[in-house]
Parts: sequence; C-alpha cells; structure tokens
Amino acid sequence: MLDRYGRPVEDLRITLTHACNFECFFCHMEGEDVSTSHYLTPQEIYLVAKVAKEFGVKSVKLTGGEPTLRRDLTEIIKLLKALGLEVSMTTNGFLLSQLARKLKEAGLDRVNVSLHAATRETFKRVTGVDAFNRVIEGVKAAIESGLRPVKLNFVINVVNYKEWKDFLDLAEGLGVDWINFIELHPVGRGATNFSLHVGLNEVEDFLKRNGRLITISKKHNRPVYEYKGLKVALIKPYSNPIFCAGCNRIRLTADGKLKSCLYRNDRVVDITGILSYDVPLEEKAELLRRALRILINIREPNFI
Ligand code: SAM
Repeated sequence: MLDRYGRPVEDLRITLTHACNFECFFCHMEGEDVSTSHYLTPQEIYLVAKVAKEFGVKSVKLTGGEPTLRRDLTEIIKLLKALGLEVSMTTNGFLLSQLARKLKEAGLDRVNVSLHAATRETFKRVTGVDAFNRVIEGVKAAIESGLRPVKLNFVINVVNYKEWKDFLDLAEGLGVDWINFIELHPVGRGATNFSLHVGLNEVEDFLKRNGRLITISKKHNRPVYEYKGLKVALIKPYSNPIFCAGCNRIRLTADGKLKSCLYRNDRVVDITGILSYDVPLEEKAELLRRALRILINIREPNFI
C-alpha cells in the first residue's frame, strides 16, 4: 500500500524500551514520549509486525532506549524472524560482546553499532560513559558472530567533528562493512543541543575525491560511497531536500503507538486499546489492519 505521496511502507522501526545505560547529549529518543514505562509484550510486537507485513513491510529495526536491556530480546527476535522479516538492531554496543552470539542464534540478521567517536575521551564526552574499549570489543564480537553487514553509526556534531577522518581508519582497521555518517536530527535532546549541528559537506567532498559514489539508496535518498573497501552512507535528514521523498519507514513506539515519522507527534495512531482488547486474535488483527490503513493515509513528508 502506498501513502498519499506514492511512498511504499517497507520498514518498521520498533522501539523496545526507553531505558538506556548511556546519555548521549543529542539523543532524539526516537521522537517518543519517554515518560512511559509500559512496554509492549513480545506477542503484541509480533502481532503488529505480522499485520504490517501484509502492508508491504519487509524489514524491522529494533531500537530504544537501548534494546539490549530488554531481557526478552531473544524471544522478540525469534518471533519476528519466524515471520520471514529481515531483523536488525541498533545498539550502543555496551553488552554486545556477551550477547552477539546469542542474538545471532535467535535470528538477528545484522547490527548497527552506535560509535560516535574515534577516541576514548570523545566517546566519554558524547555518551557520558567511559566505555569506548568495551564497545570496540562489542563490534568485534558482532563481526565474529556474523551479524553482517556490521554498520557503525556516527552522528556528527561539534564535539566529534575533528575525528571523522580517524573514524574511517578505525572502521577500516576493525573490519566493519559499513559506516553511516548521520547529521544531527533536531528532535529530543538533538533539538535542545541543535547549536552543535555540523553538516556533512566536508565528509562528502572527501569521499567524492577519494572514494567512489556507488549508489543513492532508496531509503531516504542516502548517497553511499565506497572508500577503501568500506561502504560509507551519508544520512542527511536536515540538509537533503529529498530525504523524506525516499522514506519507506513507519514506527511502533515502545508503549504501543503507530507513528508515521520521527519528527511528528500528530501523525500517530494509538493501538494500545486494540492490543489490550479481550477478543480473538483474528479480530484484533482486523482492527490493526484498520489502524495501519489510517496511519498510511495520514503519513506525509516532514519536509515538503
Ligand atoms: N541505544 C541504541 C543506539 O545507541 O544505537 C538505539 C537507540 S538510538 C536513539 C538509535 C540511533 O539514533 C543511534 O544510531 C543514534 O546514534 C541515533 N541518534 C540518536 N539521536 C540522534 C539525533 N539527534 N540525530 C541523529 N541521529 C541520532
């Protein structure tokens, strides 16, 4: 099903928790109200994903908060994988060295590890936690466990800007497959600290000169370069005027709302009532179909 702007819905981003063991100063918190501590159960998440698949969803991305803090994470992954979806997760990597193998065995296909620094000092300034080396071990464990392509997310800002070139070398040395350089979204703490926003022009000029543009990915119209065997994507939600035109994502919030856009809290369909009804599963699924149809109909680009 296409939305009113002709955009398909192919990707479901699922927030599993708002709890996090890091305090990144720019965190957008997936654009959600984080005051809730009521989280969906694995079965509820499964049902929403099952219905979403009927509308064209092919992949799910688990996020948070920090998704590895959910004790039932492997159960959730197993259920989603049983639907035949691609299952990936974005994580701060803190627990990855102990979890990577278990997650792979549960069916997780791949991970994005957020690593917003090339040095221990900057890492601590960004996250509030002295865990650079531990996250590096997590990245290595992800590679060894086959959670590939292993991608690193680097949200560029005034604090880590001087390290983006070293970061390319670090990623190459680690043997990761992919880097996402992400421009700061003005959402959540990212809005409060938006004065620390830095554009990606310098990075892109460097990649144009020293790498090779291999594609503009369908999702968010992200340019992807090849550089020394690495794929490097530039995610520009702020300065790419056609970012939203290539958005194929919908969201499921931790507390049970269908959300059409990171930026928008008005384009939301609350399904908590449906999920808690004491009715047969097929009836619930039918109500969820209606909710999804509404969501897709009210979906619109944030930047028109
Ligand atoms: N805790 C997990 C992690 O660190 O990956 C998952 C949650 S985090 C909100 C998901 C992704 O969003 C991470 O890659 C993070 O760096 C990115 N992110 C957070 N705030 C952002 C912002 N204001 N602008 C751009 N990306 C942001």
